[in-house]
Amino acid sequence: MALPMRVLVTGGSGLVGKAIEHVVQQEGGKLDGEEWIFLSSKQADLVDVEQTRAVFEKYRPTHVIHLAAKVGGLYLHMRENLQFLRDNIKINDNVLHTAHESGVTKVVSCLSSCIFPDKTTYPIDETMIHNGSPHDSNFGYSHAKRMIDVQNRAYSQQYGHCYTAVIPTNVFGPHDNFNIENGHVLSALINKTYKAKKEGTPLTVCGSGAPKRQFVYSLDLARLIIWVLREYEEVAPIILSVGEEDEISIKEAVDMITKAVDFKGEINFDTTMSDGQMKKTASNAKLRRLLPNFSFTPLNEAIKMTCDWFETNYKNART
Ligand code: NAP
Ligand code: GDP
Repeated sequence: MALPMRVLVTGGSGLVGKAIEHVVQQEGGKLDGEEWIFLSSKQADLVDVEQTRAVFEKYRPTHVIHLAAKVGGLYLHMRENLQFLRDNIKINDNVLHTAHESGVTKVVSCLSSCIFPDKTTYPIDETMIHNGSPHDSNFGYSHAKRMIDVQNRAYSQQYGHCYTAVIPTNVFGPHDNFNIENGHVLSALINKTYKAKKEGTPLTVCGSGAPKRQFVYSLDLARLIIWVLREYEEVAPIILSVGEEDEISIKEAVDMITKAVDFKGEINFDTTMSDGQMKKTASNAKLRRLLPNFSFTPLNEAIKMTCDWFETNYKNART
């Protein structure tokens, strides 16, 4: 009989890592005998290969969920493409190759729907990742992330490993980075809306509000990633997202946030700022085929829970 898994979660202190920790510890996601280790960058800077090796040596995982990455919203990407490229290439190679050297059976890494080709047909599916250049705004991050898929295929070809990847669309939830300058759209807007309400000032949304996104709640994503770790056996990646029919505009997302926060002030759209990708509509048909009964938390409920979490945890939240 196979021994119970010892799962190392890199990036265990972030938005997705904290959600997985919640599902494992609070929702019975952990099976008897299993051990789960949630890493933060304080325990090991995974850009550094020696620190990566030391932490694998210390915990000797059998399985890895690899989330650690330099992560940020559109405007941070536009300022720091080089750093996104270099840090993420190093982190990913260090984690994947150290996993290989230490005999890890399975690795589930995290790609992102923003790595898809910019000029494409919609919806985009898992077979189309490498079919053209990514959007200019985040080409550094995107190329580094695409290489995880290439590297996974190479480990499979050369060693027969099942190192695979998931492709979430835009994620949000408790423990997100709510920094107004560097955060992703929902977390930055939630923080801005609370601030505008408190100070009696207008809420400024960046860009036109017209771009469209598919938002996935971090707790739903966590449940799906655990399913991938346990059940999904392909090396080829899988998109983890709500359906195409649940894609909404940034303007509609603003309406949900202002309702959740009960903000009744003026709302401005700063059209001097970039809209980024107008859309990156992803198909979740593969997920639906393999897991037809999974039910996503309705977006307005998930946004409300995230706003409430932010208000309750304001002092300790990443702002
Ligand atoms: P996050 O909240 O910013 O968390 C990032 C995590 O990575 C943190 O635990 C951080 O550790 C760790 N980390 C960063 N640099 C590191 C380093 N040099 N060494 C070790 N650890 C490091 O990001 P997230 O949203 O949870 O993202 C998790 C994964 O999902 C990433 O791979 C990301 O690309 C992917 N993803 C995210 C989204 C999204 O909308 N957020 C969408 C698609 C895919 P510390 O906090 O301890 O420094
Ligand atoms: P993306 O989905 O990878 O482009 O990254 P984001 O999560 O940063 O979303 C960017 C989209 O949200 C763009 O269309 C922005 O114009 C829009 N947006 C509106 N207000 C904000 C904001 O305050 N912060 C961010 N990051 N994006 C915003």
